Amino acid sequence: MQLSSPVTALPRVGEIIAKKIQKLGIASIRDLLFHFPREYLDLSRVTSIASLKEGEVVCIQGTLKSIAKERTFKKQMVLVHALVEDTTGATRIVWFNQPYLLEALKPGEKLSLAGKVAQDSKGLFLSNPEYEKVKENTLLAHTGRLVPVYAETAGVTSKLLRYLTFTALSSVLATLSDSLPLHILKEKNFPSLSQALQQIHFPSSLKEEKRARERFAFEELFTILLFVVSERKKIARIKAPAIPFLAELMKRCTDSLPFKLTDSQKKSAWQILKDMEKPRPMNRLLQGDVGSGKTVVAAMAALSAVKAGYQVAFLAPTEILAKQHFQTVTALLAPFKINLGLLTGSVDHFMSKKLPGQHIEISRRKLLEKAREGGIDILIGTHAIIQKEVKFANLALVVVDEQHRFGVKQRAQLLHRSTLIPHLLSMTATPIPRTLALTVYGDLDLSLIKELPAGRKKIETKIVAPEDRESAYQFVREEIKKGGQVFVICPRIEKSNESQITDHGSQVNSRFQSTSKNWANAKAVLEEYELLSKKIFPEYAVGMLHGKISGTEKERTMKQMRAGKIKILVSTSVVEVGVDIPNATVMLIEGTEHFGLAQLHQFRGRVGRSNRQSFCLLFTESSSFKTKQRLKAIRESENGFELAEKDLKLRGPGDFTGVKQWGLPDFAMQQLTNIPLVEEAREAALALVEEDITLSNHPLLKARIEEMRKKLHME
Ligand code: ADP
Ligand code: MG
Repeated sequence: MQLSSPVTALPRVGEIIAKKIQKLGIASIRDLLFHFPREYLDLSRVTSIASLKEGEVVCIQGTLKSIAKERTFKKQMVLVHALVEDTTGATRIVWFNQPYLLEALKPGEKLSLAGKVAQDSKGLFLSNPEYEKVKENTLLAHTGRLVPVYAETAGVTSKLLRYLTFTALSSVLATLSDSLPLHILKEKNFPSLSQALQQIHFPSSLKEEKRARERFAFEELFTILLFVVSERKKIARIKAPAIPFLAELMKRCTDSLPFKLTDSQKKSAWQILKDMEKPRPMNRLLQGDVGSGKTVVAAMAALSAVKAGYQVAFLAPTEILAKQHFQTVTALLAPFKINLGLLTGSVDHFMSKKLPGQHIEISRRKLLEKAREGGIDILIGTHAIIQKEVKFANLALVVVDEQHRFGVKQRAQLLHRSTLIPHLLSMTATPIPRTLALTVYGDLDLSLIKELPAGRKKIETKIVAPEDRESAYQFVREEIKKGGQVFVICPRIEKSNESQITDHGSQVNSRFQSTSKNWANAKAVLEEYELLSKKIFPEYAVGMLHGKISGTEKERTMKQMRAGKIKILVSTSVVEVGVDIPNATVMLIEGTEHFGLAQLHQFRGRVGRSNRQSFCLLFTESSSFKTKQRLKAIRESENGFELAEKDLKLRGPGDFTGVKQWGLPDFAMQQLTNIPLVEEAREAALALVEEDITLSNHPLLKARIEEMRKKLHME
């Protein structure tokens, strides 16, 4: 039996049991051994028979004196009666419906038993206890120790898992090779892999179990960090186009803007331009709160590349945003005579410097040809850009807005003539907590836009109780009368039996949904649109947006919203990122409990984009303590970083953009919040890469890291 063997290699596991166990995500012996206990029952203290008390759960050990069965006619049940004796006395044992025990247990055998002490007219007895034989040189698995309790599923009890794990351990432990280097084990005083596996399942003390768990946690983080650190080293050896920093050009650009850059915008732009000067690929993440002005920084980087004679690809997560970026970048760079292209799922546009300000609709084929020939300086679009047929003549910079992890290989795919790997600038409005910045984002350099442009007013956040819904609607009317516009966000598209229809890309947490009683009541865009447009606000134009609406329809709606024709836009989370409607002053969120804090913060960032006072109204159907806590957090904090840290604590790292792509086991996910452990693992990873960059002396680690690279970059 090996780690990679299927569980059917174990005794008593046939196809039927294997199928049931599969429900726990366990297919191989490795999976079984890494299905760590949820908790432990402390049955380590053996109680003397003389001191048994009714109601206690105890473990006793003694010799079986007699065993017999009895059929109860009234209850149609088989009872097995036994008598067990230790040095202090004897007690009765009663098992229900387990007649085979008569064959399995023989008088004179030494037994270890764990169960509840009960009492009947004849006195105390142990009711239906777990039992196992005490043999020399064999460890106990189910009694007389800290007994592991596992996550179970139908037909797969902890007892079965315990038995299987016990059996598997005894046959594979001797053959395991440890992927953690010996010097690290020594230095940290960690148990070896085989010790740790034994100790996490069958610990002799909780202290031992804790140490074993720490070892596994460390190992997960260490592997991530090793990947991240070696990825950086690898990129540092690749060649990229060096783009000269043209100070004069940048000054002309900033002078032409209708506003003054904030200090962090300047600093970020400087870091990016400095990076691109080097002949190795930039790998930088620009993070800045919603509305902090990341687009203009990216536009400056793009301008710099274009004026050095190169092309730029600009990727947006949705069609709406691609179009918006196309317009924004066109406007920002208008003075510089640049050819821009827009490539989306539906319509393609081209804007020539010869005809400034004029969009031309052109065919996909023409657009691709222009990109390939170098006739387009900046190509903006959705993920359609990374399809195979899109090639560039001399691409030097890829800008990726929101949630896209891009590998060196993806960048290479965009090339045509040049063999130089383009620079990469990722942008995100999701603030990244420090542990995540070091680990799952650790292969990126970070630039941070800390402040919002001057003159923005603090958005007032209000929690609306169900009975105040009417007055909230009245408030919305007043705002519209003053010239404002309103977003209404619902957690899902429509109410249906499946009840899980959300938008693609929405971060509504599925774990959260399925456990939420409130999901059945959660508001849906289709119904809410009907209600608001016909009953509540018949006097205003109400629009609707969600993931199932066609591209052209969406575009028309956004155009009307931007022009102020639509006053109220009912939408799913598609408006979460990037949508810029400066005139919007009210963000009304239904079913707040279905969204993460960072996501709510994103929604809120859709308003307050002008000098007018804006409002965020939070509705909820939940009155749970956790919801209250979260609402309070969002009301009191306007700092995305603080909220991200709170989110990390309240919901775990799984909801952060980009974290899921790593495909980490839950167990490793939890460790992403453990700052001291992350730092320890990072130091160890840096040291190891310093000493053995190709990891040739650590083939097991090397293999794990290759696996990670494949998973992340879908290579
Ligand atoms: P985000 O970082 O969320 O992508 P945007 O780039 O969409 O933010 O910018 C938000 C709005 O702020 C835009 O209308 C943009 O023109 C404006 N803006 C950007 N930088 C500044 C600045 N320094 N001063 C004033 N307004 C700015
Ligand atoms: Mg943006």
